[in-house]
Amino acid sequence: MSNTLTSQHIDIEHIRSQFQVLHQEVNGKPLIYFDNAATNQKPQRVIDALVHHYQNDNANIHRGIHTLAERSTAKFEETRKAAQSFIGANEAEEIIFTKGTSESINLVASSWGRKFLSEGDEVLISAMEHHSNIVPWQMICEEKGAILKVMPINEAGELILSEVEKLITDKTKMVAFNHASNTLGTVNPVKEITAMAHAVGAKVLIDGAQSTSHLEVDVEDLNVDFFAFSAHKMYGPTGLGVLYGKRSVLEKTPPYQGGGEMIKDVSFKGTTYNDIPYKFEAGTPDIANVIAFKEAIDFIQELGKDNIAAYEHELLEYGTEKLSQIDGVRIIGTAQQKVSVISFEVEGIHHFDLGMWLDAKGIAVRTGHHCTQPLMDHFCIEGTARASFSVYNTKAEIDTFIVALKDIITKFK
Ligand code: PMP
Repeated sequence: MSNTLTSQHIDIEHIRSQFQVLHQEVNGKPLIYFDNAATNQKPQRVIDALVHHYQNDNANIHRGIHTLAERSTAKFEETRKAAQSFIGANEAEEIIFTKGTSESINLVASSWGRKFLSEGDEVLISAMEHHSNIVPWQMICEEKGAILKVMPINEAGELILSEVEKLITDKTKMVAFNHASNTLGTVNPVKEITAMAHAVGAKVLIDGAQSTSHLEVDVEDLNVDFFAFSAHKMYGPTGLGVLYGKRSVLEKTPPYQGGGEMIKDVSFKGTTYNDIPYKFEAGTPDIANVIAFKEAIDFIQELGKDNIAAYEHELLEYGTEKLSQIDGVRIIGTAQQKVSVISFEVEGIHHFDLGMWLDAKGIAVRTGHHCTQPLMDHFCIEGTARASFSVYNTKAEIDTFIVALKDIITKFK
């Protein structure tokens, strides 16, 4: 994360003017939306692109020769190219459209895992994984007799690299972990761990759900084999995501689902499969959302990742400092490198109550285990409240949030 730039490159009023949803009152108070790690809001250009597609271009893609089909296909494939350059992939064919990070990981666990995992092999994940990067591996390990191992973390919520090094052995076939934690905000050392995994011939999958809207991502530089992310966490539509895979790895990975588009030739004797990426895209995809997703990518690119990272880092530092000054507040996740996520608990107040009382003041935070129950167990807690910031949030909103929190603490404790 670049900490040298400042917010001077961010025109906050111009940015906020593109998000109609932010300009409303909730429970009689101006909405403050701090639930961005769950999903962030969509700029008007994304919504306009969706409407434009249905009003002007709607047709199924790839198989038609009429004008609308050609228009839809061209726009669909433009997003693939935009996603390719957004994450620094070598080829557009290495970009597979999925329903989201969860489906991307399930694809790898079930297709790659079924072919390449055997009894006694080991899959390594981390203690701070989202359930989406735990359960698919548990399922395939159970089926194949493989063993799931867990990279431990310290009290700040950082991976303990000396322990990670010991866990990566000749038995390790897959190392799967997140780029940034949705609960702790921790940014993980992807390059370092990838090099360790490759040294023993293991593959690496990165869950990038929380990194693509905050951090520079270059899959070639990181040298990872798979990288999964969701459009809806980066100002794009819900129900859409990407799986990046290295061509050499994807070509050896069997298809995930059977159906139209993923075939070259079908007869009742058998089927030959299509080339990548189509081999992994059975059925009619979410055409309109894919097309609108390009606007979200362009939105981020035009603002500049460095500018976004620098601005969000300012919000993170500001919010962390203000929260730390409140008696009874404990921040969970104090890593050196963090994205703009602050999980916290307040002594004597259940996080669900806290979430409800903040909502009554127009402030949206997430509460609960954040789909990271094993991580909650590690910290011996049931859940947290979580404030997470996007580029349209402001220090003034953090000030209002802090006043609201203090008010709740005095009234209800
Ligand atoms: N991994 C992480 C780190 C996440 O934050 C999320 C979403 N909360 C997911 C995976 C799952 O993403 P999706 O629901 O879009 O599939």
